[in-house]
Amino acid sequence: MPRIDVLFGPSINSDYSGWVLVSKFYATEQDVRAGEAEMINEELSCYELTIKFCPFCGEELNERNKTT
Ligand SMILES: [Zn+2]
Repeated sequence: MPRIDVLFGPSINSDYSGWVLVSKFYATEQDVRAGEAEMINEELSCYELTIKFCPFCGEELNERNKTT
């Protein structure tokens, strides 16, 4: 199950306006054969992780960064 990570700022979730890391999992031929998915590349799951601080310098990712 390949995973794709995308950093979003601001969040696509309307309840939260900060930065998020979104991980999406896609189905492979193996997943289809195992009956876990109907089609190859079908999105199986999606996780959203809240990012409050920059992982490189520790700066707070607040409202100010939203408009850039
Ligand atoms: Zn930084």
